[in-house]
Amino acid sequence: MMKIRRGDTVEIIAGDELGLRGTVRDVLRGWNVDRKRGRVGRDSSKDRVIVGGRNIIKKHQRPISQTRTQTGIIELEAPIPISKVALVCSHCDEWTRVGFTDADGIKVRMCKRCGETID
Ligand SMILES: [Zn+2]
Repeated sequence: MMKIRRGDTVEIIAGDELGLRGTVRDVLRGWNVDRKRGRVGRDSSKDRVIVGGRNIIKKHQRPISQTRTQTGIIELEAPIPISKVALVCSHCDEWTRVGFTDADGIKVRMCKRCGETID
């Protein structure tokens, strides 16, 4: 079960954008890759997230075909390592570590600061 999911509000806890928040647009799952065998297993420490409006990079996009409409210098959101972001709790409005608890037989996420369940 993922601690951070699409649609969550997260806060950046390291780097240039420290303290800024955004909404998770996508979660990219990390894998251990072997050069010969390809993907050899999940590695959750390599998971990355794309956060709306954060970690904007400028990409120099070459026109290679008629179908590629966005060319020149384009701005896009680059993936951020999941360890550099933390979930923002909707109850205490602070970033928190995520725990799991049981609510009526369903495993749900829990804020480790205030103990409230999330979603
Ligand atoms: Zn909380």
